[in-house]
Amino acid sequence: MMMTKHIAVVGSGIVGACVAAALVAEKHRVTLIEPGPVGGEQAASFGNGAWISPASVVPMSMPGTWKKVPGYLLDPTGPLTIRWRDVPAMLPWLLRFLWAGCTEAKVERTAMALASLLSDAPARHRFLAAEIGRPEMVVSNGLLYVYPDRRAFMLDGLAWRLRKQNGVEWTELEGAALHEREPSLGTHYGFGVFVAGGAHCVDPGAYVAAIKDHVIAMNGHLLPAVATGFSITGGRLKAVETDAGPLACDAAVICAGIRSRALVRMCGDDVPLHSERGYHVVAQSLHEGPSIPVMTSDSKSANTPTRAGLRIAGQVEIATVDAPPNWRRSDLLLGQAAATYPSVREDLKSRRVSRWMGHRPSTPDGLPVIDASTRSPDIIYAFGHGHVGLAAAPMTAHLVAGLVAGREPAVSLSPFSLDRFSLWR
Ligand SMILES: Cc1cc2nc3c(=O)[nH]c(=O)nc-3n(C[C@H](O)[C@H](O)[C@H](O)COP(=O)(O)OP(=O)(O)OC[C@H]3O[C@@H](n4cnc5c(N)ncnc54)[C@H](O)[C@@H]3O)c2cc1C
Repeated sequence: MMMTKHIAVVGSGIVGACVAAALVAEKHRVTLIEPGPVGGEQAASFGNGAWISPASVVPMSMPGTWKKVPGYLLDPTGPLTIRWRDVPAMLPWLLRFLWAGCTEAKVERTAMALASLLSDAPARHRFLAAEIGRPEMVVSNGLLYVYPDRRAFMLDGLAWRLRKQNGVEWTELEGAALHEREPSLGTHYGFGVFVAGGAHCVDPGAYVAAIKDHVIAMNGHLLPAVATGFSITGGRLKAVETDAGPLACDAAVICAGIRSRALVRMCGDDVPLHSERGYHVVAQSLHEGPSIPVMTSDSKSANTPTRAGLRIAGQVEIATVDAPPNWRRSDLLLGQAAATYPSVREDLKSRRVSRWMGHRPSTPDGLPVIDASTRSPDIIYAFGHGHVGLAAAPMTAHLVAGLVAGREPAVSLSPFSLDRFSLWR
């Protein structure tokens, strides 16, 4: 019989909430440590594009990305920018980022590792949403990637080859067929790729909060506090230190998103984790736009119908965590949406718009860390999900529950190991 433990889950974004749900399902006693409102704006999990896509296996750094760096530095309106003043602080991470994508062989390995977390993500989320009594949170009516024309799609050939190699299936839609599928699209998009197996979440923040409620209903606890350290004796964890006092426990899982690095350092490890900042705007109560989530190839924004209205999420801004938001980026998103959906252009102008900036917790190779700490096997890391944390959270949680139980993992954990950064340390 499996021994049940008292496990502290540090951070309750989508990853921490899913980890906690997987652990209570295995009858562990779980305490979620989270200082903010669960599912609140402080978390990346609040504001993401809401995509649950098995096709998100393509890393950000690809062969040839290095050639685009001058553009990233010089064009403040592009979908990816690097803040000049942050270059010195970010340089080691940036070099690793470019190195991670410098050959096709490297990106093929990364894509395969991402696929091991994402290939059944929609099904895992549907199962979880049903389990917590909120099946309506996950909608499975597919995802659409749009291009100006077939030529532009062909230029993205490596990305689609990586998807094909990893079992992603799609239908190509050209001209009238595309506009029949999504009538709200502007005519400057003439080619689309429909991934029928994709899903989206209608309210990512509320979903995280609902998972937390389920954890509490399953005898879990919420400690509203900041984790500040770890008390380890003879290689065994005794307690997680918090600003509300120590929490005695048998194990801890670090899922604190972008703030994980500081906690990892307290455990004697280090990981090159930086923020790829992103933005969203939500046109409140706008439900007349796209019927399904759309990803535009030119502006790289995710346009997703949500409960609150049309959410337009995107932009990658490589900058330090504490730099103030640049709200011009959210204006760019709004302008791009007006161009993408001419039929709702006027509505977009008249609606109240909420704006948000958050931190993708990103490692240079775009893969999370799912591993035990070197100082104690009782401390497990589960962070660094970059662009795919919503989609990858249930599989991550499954793997973490397996590590706690000492089970053979269903997929190889080596791409997610701490060791891959050993040169960094
Ligand atoms: C613009 C944008 C669009 C995105 N689109 C998508 C998408 O469409 N699909 C997708 O799969 N992913 C997407 N992502 C990525 C995804 O949102 C993240 O990978 C994911 O939310 C990370 O979840 P997390 O739980 O690791 O971190 P977070 O959601 O950031 O949660 C971390 C939590 O830890 C808490 N915390 C921090 N420090 C401590 C501490 N010391 N003690 C206790 N708690 C602490 C924080 O308060 C926070 O609540 C997007 C991200 C952005 C920014």
